[in-house]
Amino acid sequence: MREFGGGCQCGRVRYTARITDTQAYLCHCRMCQRATGSPSAAFKNLARADLVWESEPDWYASSPVAKRPFCSACGTPLGFAYNDSDRLDLTVGSFDDPSPFYPTENFGVESRQPAWEDTSHLPAKAASDHEGTIMRWQAAGLKVPS
Ligand SMILES: [Zn+2]
Ligand SMILES: [Zn+2]
Repeated sequence: MREFGGGCQCGRVRYTARITDTQAYLCHCRMCQRATGSPSAAFKNLARADLVWESEPDWYASSPVAKRPFCSACGTPLGFAYNDSDRLDLTVGSFDDPSPFYPTENFGVESRQPAWEDTSHLPAKAASDHEGTIMRWQAAGLKVPS
């Protein structure tokens, strides 16, 4: 059992999660695609009892059966929860350190976007090596965030 911190991009919503394993999954369903703006949503499922909201999220009722926590100030999608479940999902990207998590399952595969799943063969560039990005951050008197 390890504690993981996480939250939204602006820092208004914060949580601490007690994690027993770092297995996670991808949901490819259309509702998750819309809710995250991404071809799939990476989620870590855990018991509600193992999650403490240090500052409360907003909740969007995305259907009559489920709600999605998010931050109304910055828009970060934070998870998914069935109304009648004692478990819920947190978005892997909202953890302060998402690197320990890895996918073990695909869900909602009827809406799968295969072109986005394995991009390892595509050209790769670090944001910190991109001239336009460096210029804009330098003009703001800052370094490119990693
Ligand atoms: Zn926020
Ligand atoms: Zn979904």
